[in-house]
Amino acid sequence: MSYDVAVVGLGPAGATAAYYLASEGFKVIAFDKERFPRYKPCGGCISLKVEGLLDFDISPVVEETIRGAVFTYRSGRELEILSDTPVGYNVMRDSFDDLILKKASAAGAEIIEGCRIRRMSEDRDSVTLHTDSGDTYSARFIIGADGAAGFMGREHFAIDVKESAVSITAEIPYERSRFPDIEGRLFIDFGLVPHGYAWIFPKKEYLSVGMAGEAMKVRGNIKDYFNTFVQTHDLLKTLKVGKTAGWTVPIFYERGSTTLQVARGRVALVGDTGHLVDPFLGEGIYYAIRTAKAAASFTADSLRSGASDLESYQSWLESEIYPEFKGAGKISSLVYKYPRLWYKLLEQEPDIMNRYYDVVRGKESNGSFYQWIRTNMRSKPWKVFKGWLNSKLA
Ligand SMILES: Cc1cc2nc3c(=O)[nH]c(=O)nc-3n(C[C@H](O)[C@H](O)[C@H](O)COP(=O)(O)OP(=O)(O)OC[C@H]3O[C@@H](n4cnc5c(N)ncnc54)[C@H](O)[C@@H]3O)c2cc1C
Repeated sequence: MSYDVAVVGLGPAGATAAYYLASEGFKVIAFDKERFPRYKPCGGCISLKVEGLLDFDISPVVEETIRGAVFTYRSGRELEILSDTPVGYNVMRDSFDDLILKKASAAGAEIIEGCRIRRMSEDRDSVTLHTDSGDTYSARFIIGADGAAGFMGREHFAIDVKESAVSITAEIPYERSRFPDIEGRLFIDFGLVPHGYAWIFPKKEYLSVGMAGEAMKVRGNIKDYFNTFVQTHDLLKTLKVGKTAGWTVPIFYERGSTTLQVARGRVALVGDTGHLVDPFLGEGIYYAIRTAKAAASFTADSLRSGASDLESYQSWLESEIYPEFKGAGKISSLVYKYPRLWYKLLEQEPDIMNRYYDVVRGKESNGSFYQWIRTNMRSKPWKVFKGWLNSKLA
């Protein structure tokens, strides 16, 4: 049977694309190798700006509304920076992803769970997906959303899966009533894991605990860093850590001035498959939904006009998304190369974080935040920062 669009992978990216295309009346089929609800290693913190992207209510799956964070440096020097208004929400990924999947199904997308796509073949007028069990499905366009290290990016777009951060995560059951002070807060630690951060994101029944760092700097020691974190952080000391999961975070990368090509002919990559993850925070859910929604819209345009490519999606990424990632990359170098100095700066000027919360809310760009630090912090008199900032911000 032939479809207008076939989607590979039904995380937030694939399910969003399927939802918007099916809502517009297109004939959509979407596959996932898992059956839902399925577990996905993730902190599950979604920024406030996600709300404005989706045209349905996500509140049924929100477990915590976040107003800021309690920061630590190597599990000590606690620093709470809270805002009066929400910055984001914590969700469990099994129920969040399942919600979007059900919306896609209700909108009319044909959903095939428990079915792995093995390979893709292209001809002039259509693209064919080949499943594990030997079935084939053809469509005029394909959305690749098979996640970090997915075959669509690796085999069809030469994405380098090694250009990813490494991470480890665990869901730790806890009694909420024993921790009355955590409401509305994330817990974020700098300095323990090289070139990254560790986190505790509270949900109703679990604390999602994890860390991510640059692979080259972590050098295979992520489990040791994680053990140190759970043994030293005040919130975790008394809790029992069970199963951990390792995963990669496919952050945005460039080779010189060449940006990633994630759309070609009748195929477009969205979300993690296309390395569309903020390189500072590791925020991927917002970008999965945003890029999927855009790819769905460009695909709908091509289906209506009879065009045979999705090049317009690539141009959109280059003008709307990649500049954001480049800005986040600059912040990342500033913070993670010198976490001790960054932390000292934060202790002296906690308002920096209030301003960054506006970036997370989508009110300010990474680039303008970086520029603001550059202009304002440079003029601060502290000797200790001067050399550092001058060298980093030149
Ligand atoms: C430890 C960790 C913590 C994170 N914390 C956060 C956070 O707090 N906030 C945030 O915004 N981001 C976070 N991220 C990033 C976020 O998890 C991802 O960016 C997000 O899941 C991307 O969604 P996606 O739909 O692109 O991919 P995924 O959610 O990975 O979905 C891909 C889907 O494709 C399916 N699939 C794979 N291969 C095939 C195949 N061959 N055939 C059929 N189906 C296939 C998979 O089963 C999966 O369901 C974190 C990542 C990690 C690793």
